[in-house]
Amino acid sequence: MATAVTLNTGAQMPILGLGTWKSPPGKVTEAVKAAITAGYRHIDGAFIYQNEAEVGEGVNTMIKDGVVKREELFIVSKLWCTFHEKTMVRKGCEKTLGDLKLDYLDLFLIHWPMGLKSGDDLFPLDEAGQTVSDNSSFLETWEGMEELVDAGLVKAIGVSNFNKEQIEAIMNKPGLKYKPANNQVECHPYLTQEKLIDFCHSKDIFVTAYSPLGSPDRPWVKPEDPSLMDDPNIKTIAEKYKKTSAQVLIRFHIQRNVIVIPKSITPQRIQENFQVFDFELSEEEMKTILGFNRNWRACPFQWSSKHKDYPFNAEF
Ligand code: NDP
Repeated sequence: MATAVTLNTGAQMPILGLGTWKSPPGKVTEAVKAAITAGYRHIDGAFIYQNEAEVGEGVNTMIKDGVVKREELFIVSKLWCTFHEKTMVRKGCEKTLGDLKLDYLDLFLIHWPMGLKSGDDLFPLDEAGQTVSDNSSFLETWEGMEELVDAGLVKAIGVSNFNKEQIEAIMNKPGLKYKPANNQVECHPYLTQEKLIDFCHSKDIFVTAYSPLGSPDRPWVKPEDPSLMDDPNIKTIAEKYKKTSAQVLIRFHIQRNVIVIPKSITPQRIQENFQVFDFELSEEEMKTILGFNRNWRACPFQWSSKHKDYPFNAEF
């Protein structure tokens, strides 16, 4: 089983990476170091996680200590929604690079298709609790992203939380210079994304699965929400292979050729989540797991549900 995929840029992207959303600044440096020690070579971050300086500290310490070289790592970040105007894209990227203390990113994604009012407030809301839009279109944001490739700040560009129609809009944009290399979306057995994955793969766009364990530490979790890691059907499969539910949930993506980025700040779990290359789910088990789909989202971003570019009103 390959441990990396080849993007449409020709670059190799490790199929398993470390997620860093909600990883507190005081813990994430050690988490990144533990991950690199365990064999991870791909770290997923974002400006909005507000911990990129500490992520960068972990990365740079491991490079300085000679554990790993920069070119062996695959560092991903994302442009926040308040930087969607074409003239602001570079500023958004340079802020991330400055925080990480790195010269380039391996992959930079438009975090969400919706542009939000620029300014110091990263999450501008109106009285009704809906986000305040800017006047941008993600097509102009994409042009700003293309300029980052030409400027050498990023090796590849992609999107996140884009639906089929939005990806098609980019692919059909007059004068398109670079196709998206990646679409990072929520994906797990309760949201299997079969149609979107088939579509992306047919366009030579790899998919990354976020919240693969169901994001149990998301700030808006409710007690009545479903819990993937406690699902008895997942547990039964895990027991058969003497693996944990988390390992089955991660392995599920690898066998679909989908990149996966479980988050943890716990060294023992970081190691556990990497031990997924020594067993294989049967074709039947893969089908069974796909049957658990219930189109449930841990991250619906409902504050933007009325935004013109909100992605989740479409079927996929
Ligand atoms: P995950 O599904 O990765 O779940 C993380 C939670 O699972 C944490 O509470 C962690 O605890 C726990 N956990 C991790 N490993 C294990 C294990 N082996 N056994 C038991 N519990 C475990 O959630 P995320 O939502 O964080 O998604 C992963 C990453 O995807 C994010 O961190 C981020 O990088 C990316 N993401 C991107 C989004 C986007 O819009 N593009 C949106 C959401 C996520 P602990 O840390 O305490 O060990």
